[in-house]
Amino acid sequence: MGKTCSNCKKVQDVSEFSPRHKGKPRTNSWCKACMRELRRKRFAEDPVPYQEAYKRHYKRLKQEKKTDKWSAYKKPMFVSSYYEEQ
Ligand SMILES: [Zn+2]
Repeated sequence: MGKTCSNCKKVQDVSEFSPRHKGKPRTNSWCKACMRELRRKRFAEDPVPYQEAYKRHYKRLKQEKKTDKWSAYKKPMFVSSYYEEQ
């Protein structure tokens, strides 16, 4: 199964296109090689927004970890004993 990149116009395997959203079948219309090139170009022109985005992403990851720990802590007793018996 192939897909045409709307930038380089090459027909490539769908695995060469990164998914736009998790769990959705839609993919980017640009192949990974073109996306990489675009990101590199944009980053070279203005790296600040990317550094900010990374910081936000990292912060959210940390928050998600905390949430997971908290929800595990809040798990009802019978649920945790059920898993321990398995
Ligand atoms: Zn391409």
